[in-house]
Amino acid sequence: MTALQNQSAYQVNERGYYGQFGGAYIPEMLYPNVEELRDNYLKIIAQPDFQEEFQGLLRDYVGRPTPLYLAQRLSDKYNTTIYLKREDLCHTGAHKINNTIGQILLAKRLGKQKIVAETGAGQHGVATATVCALMGMECIVYMGEIDIQRQAPNVARMKMLGAEVRPASSGSKTLKDATNEAMRHWINNPTDTHYIIGSVVGPHPYPDMVARFQSVISEEIKKQLLEKTGSELPDYVIACVGGGSNAAGAFYHFLDDESVKLVAAEAGGHGITSGLSAATTFLGKIGVLHGSKSILMQTEDGQVVEPHSISAGLDYPGIGPMHAHLHDSHRALFYAITDDESIASAMELSKLEGIIPALESAHALAVLPYLKAAPNETVVINLSGRGDKDLATYMKYL
Ligand SMILES: *Cc1c(COP(=O)(O)O)cnc(C)c1O
Repeated sequence: MTALQNQSAYQVNERGYYGQFGGAYIPEMLYPNVEELRDNYLKIIAQPDFQEEFQGLLRDYVGRPTPLYLAQRLSDKYNTTIYLKREDLCHTGAHKINNTIGQILLAKRLGKQKIVAETGAGQHGVATATVCALMGMECIVYMGEIDIQRQAPNVARMKMLGAEVRPASSGSKTLKDATNEAMRHWINNPTDTHYIIGSVVGPHPYPDMVARFQSVISEEIKKQLLEKTGSELPDYVIACVGGGSNAAGAFYHFLDDESVKLVAAEAGGHGITSGLSAATTFLGKIGVLHGSKSILMQTEDGQVVEPHSISAGLDYPGIGPMHAHLHDSHRALFYAITDDESIASAMELSKLEGIIPALESAHALAVLPYLKAAPNETVVINLSGRGDKDLATYMKYL
C-alpha cells in the first residue's frame, strides 16, 4: 500500500480528489511540508512497526475496541434495533484521539520533534496535547482569543498537559484565525514541526489520512455486528458531521456496501432559514476553505459566513471533501438537526439508557424520529463523545 490504488468511487483518487472535491489549495510556502507528508504517509502507515505501535496504543491507551452496545430501551421507543458505537468511552471522551495518536506516530517517523495544532472549542487541542505528553513532544496550540475566554476548562487541560496555548488575535478571533496562525507557524518551522489537523479537512493528504486513522471505528463495527447479529452489514449508519472525521470513520468500511444507508447529521442551529445555522450542505456553495475544495457557507462574494451551533464541535462553516462528495453523489443522506432537537435527544438518551452524550453526538441521535426504520432493520449510531463537557449547556434545560 505505497500508492493510492482505490477502486472505490467514494475514496480519494491519486490526485487527492473525491469527485470534484478535495485537492491541495495552499500557498507556495506550504508546498514542501504538504508534499513531504503526501509522499510518505501511505508508506509509513503501512509499515508493520507503525501498525504495531498504533494498534497497541489504541488498545491499551485509548481503550479500544470500544463497545457496540444494543440500546434496548431506545430501540423499543423507535420500534427498530439500535446499536450505539461507544466512542464516548475513548480516553479523553471522544473519537478525536484516534487521529491524534495516528498523526503523532507519523510525525515521529518523519523525524519531527514539535507539534502545532489549531483548536476551536479546545477538544482537538486537548486530544493533541494529550498525545504530545504521551510522546514527550513540544506542543503549541493556536486558539482564537474569544474561544480562549469561552472555553476556560479546555485551556486549563491543555496547560496541565504541558502544551503552550497561543492566542490568535486577528479577525473574528475564533477557529478560522487560529487555523491561519497555525499554518503560518508551520510555514516558518517546516523541518522540525508537524501540523496535526483535527478533522477530515485541509489540503490532501489530510482528509484521507485522518479518515484512515478514524476508520478503525467502522472496522470494529463490522466485526462486532457480525458477532452479534450474524451479518456485518447494518441497514443504517448515522453520525454527526462537523468537519466530518467521526462520520468518515463510521462510514469508511461501508462506503462500497451500497445496501447500507449512510446518514449524516449536520447542525441546523436555530433552523436553516434562521441565519443562525451550521448546516453546510443546505446553505453552502462550492468553494475553497482551509486548503481544499468543498462545500462551505459563504456570502455572494465568497466571504466565509460565521456558523452557529449549540455544539462547539459542529460549529464549522464547511465539511470535508469526502462528505461533500457523498452528498453530491447521494451516497449519504444529510439531515439538519436544530439545537432544540439535539437537546431533546440528549435528555432522551440519558433517561432511557443512562448515557449522557456529547451535544454533537445528540445531533446523530436526533435523526431517529425522521428515519422510520423498520422493526427488523439494524441502525448503528456513532456516539462520538460523552457529555461531561456540555453540562453547563445541559443545566440550562433541566
Ligand atoms: C469534534 C467533535 C465532533 C465533530 O468533529 P468531526 O470531525 O465532524 O467528527 C463530533 N463529536 C464530538 C464529540 C467531537 O468532539
